[in-house]
Amino acid sequence: VVVAGAGPAGISSAIAVARQGFKVAILERLGCVGGNLTGGCVGPIMGSVSKGTFGDEIIKLLGGEFYDFNKAKFLLHELLIKNNVDVFLFTTVSEVTTKDNFVKSVKAYGKTNNHVFNAKFFIDCTGDGDLCYKAGCEYKIGRDRDGLTQPVSLMYVIEGIDKNQTLTCCHEEHYTTLSNGKEYLSMCRQACKDGILPPSINIVRLYNNGKQGERIVNATQLNKVNVLDEYEIAKAELELRRQMVVVNEFLKKYVPGFENISVKSCSEFVGIRESRRILGEYVLTAEDCLSGKTFYDGIVHKADFPLDIHNPDGAGQSEQEGLPPTVTPYDIPYRCFTPKGFDNLFVAGRCISGDHRAHASYRVMRICLAMGQAVGVACGLCLKNQVTSKQLSTDLLRKTLTDMGIEL
Ligand SMILES: Cc1cc2nc3c(=O)[nH]c(=O)nc-3n(C[C@H](O)[C@H](O)[C@H](O)COP(=O)(O)OP(=O)(O)OC[C@H]3O[C@@H](n4cnc5c(N)ncnc54)[C@H](O)[C@@H]3O)c2cc1C
Repeated sequence: VVVAGAGPAGISSAIAVARQGFKVAILERLGCVGGNLTGGCVGPIMGSVSKGTFGDEIIKLLGGEFYDFNKAKFLLHELLIKNNVDVFLFTTVSEVTTKDNFVKSVKAYGKTNNHVFNAKFFIDCTGDGDLCYKAGCEYKIGRDRDGLTQPVSLMYVIEGIDKNQTLTCCHEEHYTTLSNGKEYLSMCRQACKDGILPPSINIVRLYNNGKQGERIVNATQLNKVNVLDEYEIAKAELELRRQMVVVNEFLKKYVPGFENISVKSCSEFVGIRESRRILGEYVLTAEDCLSGKTFYDGIVHKADFPLDIHNPDGAGQSEQEGLPPTVTPYDIPYRCFTPKGFDNLFVAGRCISGDHRAHASYRVMRICLAMGQAVGVACGLCLKNQVTSKQLSTDLLRKTLTDMGIEL
């Protein structure tokens, strides 16, 4: 089995396949495993799913909800190796060979010789759906009305905050009065209006990372970037790094206790919230998420995270002022992971089959970890039973997942 992309979905897929005794290679374009969870400085792991999924194991391995990005690179890589997954770094899936309804091989650039990976099954966990795209799968991107995607951001960690300063700011209605009597969120918004902060920023989110004097900063933001264009991404990267400096100056000058902050670590790449959504046998909709829909072939259960659409046009949320709409814990059916037109190809992670609004909920890492595991188990069952992804009995898949202790 070839798994493309070693983010949360890829790691959980690869390990789930390997634990069933099959040979797996995971191909990662960057120099470390983990995707956004490590190199992207994204944390904490958000969202929730039913009990018993791989996310529980990962959170335990990482030492809890708050984790160290660099340590996580090592722990996750080691976990892959311990589970007999062959890890290839700096290996970008660049070409895909298909015949009829089957993917035959993928190619990747190699320093000496280019690599060709032949496999019986392929799992696309690239976040951008690169493997599926190159195989010719249909996909959608952005909002229906204009194709715009959520903005890009560069996440980073600051240190040097006064130990008595407990300020965090997690969302649009997280109000805190500072020791100077000013309310933090209003201060951020005013700073945007006054041109002290770029207008796209709106609020400087400060997440706890479990370490005294440190916060994860989720603030920089750029709209209307074509996230699949390397030249545009390069321009965005420069602009976001410029914004980082401005945000830090703002924090130092206006927030008591932040006078001596410096950057401890920073994402190694522009953080992409949204890109291709590969068309599967079923398209999960926002209405499914809002109504808490269950499915006969649901393999991720009680997925829960708001429809968190960072405004593609500007600052704040896309659909309403304040907090994003909450969902009713919902199922993700097997058919969202099986791209149309292929019999040995799966997709897992943020590029599965769903609409723009549903994507804003299931894209978070806890849910992506559960997706990867369920798809990895499905892939192993296909191999064991010598059936295609479309022939697999979803009753058998659900029973296998339940027998593993996953609540469905
Ligand atoms: C700015 C930002 C803030 C966020 N905040 C949070 C948060 O606080 N909590 C939370 O839970 N989620 C958050 N998210 C969402 C979450 O990080 C992602 O949606 C999630 O990581 C998706 O997991 P994934 O495995 O599908 O993709 P990714 O984590 O993106 O992993 C995909 C992997 O595939 C690799 N890859 C890509 N293309 C190729 C290719 N062609 N060949 C080989 N490898 C390839 C990538 O390098 C990467 O390692 C945030 C996202 C962003 C961008």
